[in-house]
This record gives sequence, structure tokens and C-alpha cells, in this order.
Amino acid sequence: MILITGGAGYIGSHLNKKASAEGYETVVLDNLIYGHKDFLKWGNFHKVDLADVDALRSIFQKYEIDAVMHFAAFTNVGESVSDPQKYYQNNLKNTINLLQVMLENHVKKFIFSSTCATYGLPNKIPITEDHPQNPINPYGKAKLMVEKILEDYSNAYNLKYVSLRYFNAAGADPDVEIGEWHLPETHLIPLVLDAAMGRRDHVKIFGTDYDTPDGTCIRDYIHVMDLADAHLKALQYLEDEKRSEVFNLGNGNGFSVREVIKKSEKVTGKPISIIETDRRPSDPPVLIGSSIKAGKILNWHPKYKNLEKIIESAWKWHQKIYL
Ligand code: UDP
Repeated sequence: MILITGGAGYIGSHLNKKASAEGYETVVLDNLIYGHKDFLKWGNFHKVDLADVDALRSIFQKYEIDAVMHFAAFTNVGESVSDPQKYYQNNLKNTINLLQVMLENHVKKFIFSSTCATYGLPNKIPITEDHPQNPINPYGKAKLMVEKILEDYSNAYNLKYVSLRYFNAAGADPDVEIGEWHLPETHLIPLVLDAAMGRRDHVKIFGTDYDTPDGTCIRDYIHVMDLADAHLKALQYLEDEKRSEVFNLGNGNGFSVREVIKKSEKVTGKPISIIETDRRPSDPPVLIGSSIKAGKILNWHPKYKNLEKIIESAWKWHQKIYL
């Protein structure tokens, strides 16, 4: 049985669907603050907030849990700057609660949703796992703190973990049952698709004076189904190797904000109005991950390498929820 925290959220729900399709039994926890009830179509759901240690204990008593995949977290980087307490309480303290109850119950396999935000401003592209980690916001700092805690717990308590540092998650389930749906939305691709659909008048480009070929920021967009696949491979790895590891999960290709908009116009067949504005504070000009390590060790190779395919999948979902 796999315990999935945040299983009503974007990435957790895709993992839950894929794991269930591959024959794993799952227990899904979510406090439903940002998660969607409609995404809970697979496994055994319990509405639990990870602040509630007793509720967590009862879940571990009820089910024979072999491994935990921990997706539950707040993910709005800007909000983490204006309200850091919210992020340290949930993303750090509640993760410590989860680890505590795992250890009480001798559950020793943990897969952690980490992030490229732990690197901060990169000094080398593509970013490899040994790149220095100097996060520049509380979201990235809390994720890095958990990575460090995992190192210590691994040494002291024989907990085996895999930390997966995601780049920019994008796209949706090809069956269009679940997809990206944040309220409020802050991510580029859904905002661009909103503009294509007429739900917004325009999309803002945050900064056009970066030192990049077209002046806009470059990001590594990785499809959510590829992320789900990496989690199952990481679980297999923990079962076979029983050694803790850290992997980047990126596409290996970078796309600029303007490229995303242009490709979205092609995919949707609609014109997208833009407004060029100032830079968003602390946005690195380029974030591209090297996922060579995950390729070699996990045999993980993203299937959605092409931006157009990623946007097509996001567009199908966007039409489903908003048309
Ligand atoms: N971005 C933008 N306009 C928007 C939202 C995002 O220009 O309305 C840019 C943002 O500055 C970044 C890229 O798009 O360079 C991806 O941003 P997103 O918030 O999707 O992900 P992040 O890279 O911050 O995790």
C-alpha cells in the first residue's frame, strides 16, 4: 500500500491514477484546501491535515503502508515571501509530523516532492544535482530544509528516501480526467490558455530585458505524466537498491515565455494578447535541469520532450473545465 499525501492536488492525483492503473493500492490524504474532490477517483481517500498527528497515526494503524509519497505542500512562491509562516508550518513542520508517524510505524520508504527552487539563482546551466543549493524564497528554503532533514534521518534511522527536484510541471492526464487547476492561478501555461480562451484579456510577460535570446525567461517544462512515471520508478529503485538518492526531473529543454505564447497560439488557433511588464522579483533568467542522473539510475526518460505536445495536453484539459 502506498500512502499519497496531497493526492487531490495536481501532481499527486496524476501519480495516484497511474499507480492505481499499474496495480498499486493507494491511501490518499488531502486536507482539500487546494485539492479537488473530483480528483479523488482512485484509492482510499481520507480527509486529513498533516498538522493532525493523531489522525495520521490512525491512518498508519488502519493500513499496512509500505511507502509514502509526499506531495502535500503549498506551492505559491510569491505567497511564501509575503506569508512565510504558512509555508514553514505546512511544508516543513507538517512534513516533520509525517516523518515522525512513519518512524513510529517503522515505515522506511519516502519519496519527496522537492523542487528546482532549492537551487536559487543558478551559476551553471543545465543544473545538475550537485549544483549549490541557495534558495531565494521561503518555498525553496522549506523544501531544502526537508531535504537536509531526510539526510539526517536516513543516517540515524535508516529511513530510505528519494528526493525528486521537479522543474516546471505542466500538461494533464491524456484521458482528460484530471489536470492542472490552481485557484488562484499563477502559472504561465494555464494563464496563457485562459487568454486564448477569452477568460482573460491578455497575458503579462514578466520582464523582456533578460539576457536570453528573446529577452524573456526560459524554463524547463516537464509533463505531469512524466513526473508520475518518475515516482513509480523511484519507488522501484528504493525497493531494489534501498539507498537514498536525489534526482532532478526536467525535460532537459528550455522554452522562453514568448515561445510558450507562440506555441499556444499555434495549438489553440487563437491570438493571444500580451502586455510586457516589469520583471517578477527573484525570477532566475534561465532554469533548465539536467536529468541525466535519473535517466541512468532510474531509467527515466521523459516522453513529452516537445513543448507543443505538452501544451496540447494542457489545452484539452483547459477546454474541458472551462468550456
Ligand atoms: N510568467 C509570465 N507571466 C505570467 C506568469 C509567469 O511572464 O503571468 C513567467 C515567469 O516570470 C517565469 C515563467 O513565466 O519566467 C514561468 O512561471 P511560472 O509561474 O509558471 O513558474 P515558475 O518558473 O515561477 O515556477
